[in-house]
Amino acid sequence: MNNAELLALASQRLYPNYRPAPFVLSRGKGCEVWDVEGARYLDMAAGVAVCTLGHAHPAYVAAVSAQVAKLGHVSNWFYNEENVLLADELCRLSGFDRAMFCNSGAEALEALFKLARHHFFGRGQLSRTRFLAFDNAFHGRTMGALSLTGTPKYREGFGEVAGVTHVPYGDLEAVRAALTDEFAAVVVEPIQGEGGVLPAPEGFLAGLRAACDARGALLLFDEVQTGVGRTGAWFGFQRAGVAPDAVALAKGLGGGFPIGAILTREALAEALPPGTHGSTYAGNPLGCAAARAVLSAVATEGLVEGARAKGEHLAAGLRGLVAELPSVCEAERGVGLLRGLVLAPGWVARDVVARAAVAGLLLTGAGARVIRFVPPLVVTEAQLTDAVGLLKATLRAMASERGG
Ligand code: PLP
Repeated sequence: MNNAELLALASQRLYPNYRPAPFVLSRGKGCEVWDVEGARYLDMAAGVAVCTLGHAHPAYVAAVSAQVAKLGHVSNWFYNEENVLLADELCRLSGFDRAMFCNSGAEALEALFKLARHHFFGRGQLSRTRFLAFDNAFHGRTMGALSLTGTPKYREGFGEVAGVTHVPYGDLEAVRAALTDEFAAVVVEPIQGEGGVLPAPEGFLAGLRAACDARGALLLFDEVQTGVGRTGAWFGFQRAGVAPDAVALAKGLGGGFPIGAILTREALAEALPPGTHGSTYAGNPLGCAAARAVLSAVATEGLVEGARAKGEHLAAGLRGLVAELPSVCEAERGVGLLRGLVLAPGWVARDVVARAAVAGLLLTGAGARVIRFVPPLVVTEAQLTDAVGLLKATLRAMASERGG
């Protein structure tokens, strides 16, 4: 079927909770994808910071194919080799002691939520149930994760899991004022991703650590977007030099296979004893083999260091856009290969992303006015240069249509 036929079918059959670009993708290689009619797109979205190794990476294809031919799923009634080895590799890379798996970012946040509450429940601190989270944060769409999410537009009409207080991101005074002995944990993104690619201000994460220590609360990092090399460190907390009590991972961990994880210190190992939390699919051999292939390629191909160097190249290109098109672009910001181009007031990121897509460049928006670049970590500097060029042409065309 061609694009038009599939789009017609999609409009009848898919539940209309998304607004995808008007073409249908069918294959990919590295940082390029093609639609069903053979049109090519340069992929700077990576499935929203997921496809760490790009598309159809040979080692990833080999590992996943071999695993599905060997053992696909057994459930947590039984150990599986890939699950044990992945837990060990993640603990070695991060310095944490324990790994628990799940299937998505939101599920990883649910696990953190339950871990924190149950940790204090198990210690008889029954009034320590509250969470401190941040305005503009994004933690996922399930009810616990949604309640932690500090952006009203995502929460409107859904109610909430009680017990979450939001304060401005970066405001340590507000944190100290809000944090009482009723708080189980502070939950924070080291860089707010969906909220507009906003790195934590200098000293903020260390200040959170100190505030949590002073109050006896846990510090939990949501590294769903920042984990697995994207910031130029394996994990964002390492880049910040701050040690949280647990972190949530997903997205880039599976490189496209849906897998999430939480990593915890040994002191939290008894918080969720058998029977208190789990999922049928969590840590299945296929997902764990995919994640192990990602970790292995990230290490052997030097993609963590690469994210730093390539990130600087991308940042320079985006700063060039700000200099050349000052009426359209306000600023560049971000870290490693998690970068944002802030558009001038009056511009809407979603409109630019839609226009770039039909021009052959896949991007995502973050917040109302930020164009986000989260390319595969295997991207080349030449591809980043091409992407910036395509975005420039798109912005120029849109600006001239607006008469500016
Ligand atoms: N946490 C952060 C920081 C995210 O960026 C996201 C997704 O964008 C999530 C959680 C939710 O992840 P998922 O969409 O896999 O549920």
